[in-house]
Amino acid sequence: MKRNTNYDNLEQSYLFSIIGKKVNEYKKQNPDKKIIRLGIGDVTKPLCPSVINAMHKAVDEMGVQETFRGYGPEQGYDFLRTAVQNYYKNFSVNLDLPEIFISDGAKSDLGNILDLFDKNNTVLVPDPVYPVYVDTNIMAGRVVKFVNAKVENNFLPMPDNNVKADIIYICSPNNPTGAAYNREQLKEWVKYSLKNGAVILYDAAYEAFIEDNTIPHSIFEIEGAKNCAIEFCSLSKTAGFTGTRCGYTIVPETIGKLNKMWVRRQTTKFNGVPYIVQRGAEAVFTEQGQKEIKINIDYYKKNAKIISDTLAELGIWHVGGKHSPYIWLKCPNNMKSWEFFDYLLNNAQVVGTPGVGFGINGEGFFRLTSFGSYENTLEAMERFKKLF
Ligand code: PLP
Repeated sequence: MKRNTNYDNLEQSYLFSIIGKKVNEYKKQNPDKKIIRLGIGDVTKPLCPSVINAMHKAVDEMGVQETFRGYGPEQGYDFLRTAVQNYYKNFSVNLDLPEIFISDGAKSDLGNILDLFDKNNTVLVPDPVYPVYVDTNIMAGRVVKFVNAKVENNFLPMPDNNVKADIIYICSPNNPTGAAYNREQLKEWVKYSLKNGAVILYDAAYEAFIEDNTIPHSIFEIEGAKNCAIEFCSLSKTAGFTGTRCGYTIVPETIGKLNKMWVRRQTTKFNGVPYIVQRGAEAVFTEQGQKEIKINIDYYKKNAKIISDTLAELGIWHVGGKHSPYIWLKCPNNMKSWEFFDYLLNNAQVVGTPGVGFGINGEGFFRLTSFGSYENTLEAMERFKKLF
């Protein structure tokens, strides 16, 4: 046996364990202080009533001979694929059912999709970045190049025709920065991709936070994208499915052989998402379900606005917070990311995520999230106001 030594090339990710350790230490020494966590990337609001009702009904069906279901279609049940198809019509994107694949979340498919690509492809990822894009490629032994996201480009890097890439990752609205590409910017990426024969792996996990039509919800809103892009989406942040697990991946039939290959891959290695979960997901796309999830998204967005408005008032440079639950700020007084983490914990008892944990361009930056409670977000911002 020879093991996959590419794993030796992975950076050990200590980010969240160091944060946990530092917070626990502080708590031990200051048991009476109230710590507010604005670093969480998980949702906190429960599933909405439509989803719960649909899943209860599906559970009952599973206990009755006539409606019991065993293995489902690997690509997902047609009732859910049709719901996704109709959802995309809101953005004037027409999809055929064979292009829609139901997944157990975006993270799995972002990793699994790499089965379709040659080991020698060059990969382009933004820095800072959602670490899954980098690590899944390092595990497969691919060369990863970085494109710099920085203040000068508002953390929205654009293609460079001198850089050759085969696989391009775009996440918009972005984790960790909260920045979102507009239509014109995405057109440039599609143009670059078509010119270079590259594929864009488009992560739309946060599309439900988009506020107006200046920001596309889907890469397929851009002409030509169906010839060069694959899109990943998730109900995790949209509808609180982080623990329930359901998402969808769009592989156009017009992108060479990739659609057929993905069918082959999924039918070989995947046995589908549970029927009960798919019924819950279907409920998200009903009129009532959309109303209910909007209440939760609006709650998070209100928190994001409080954070963003406070930072603006204090003159602290930041992006995100508008079409996204994330706010990415420049650490005041030129502090480094971890220095600011310690300063904030010790002086305001607020916990966030050091930007350097997402890539070298994140040094000197910091991520706050809006997934906490309204009251805590408000209190955290009051503490900011006293500090800066
Ligand atoms: N993509 C991005 C950019 C994310 O931030 C996350 C989760 O935090 C995911 C994908 C994973 O989503 P899922 O829960 O659907 O696997």
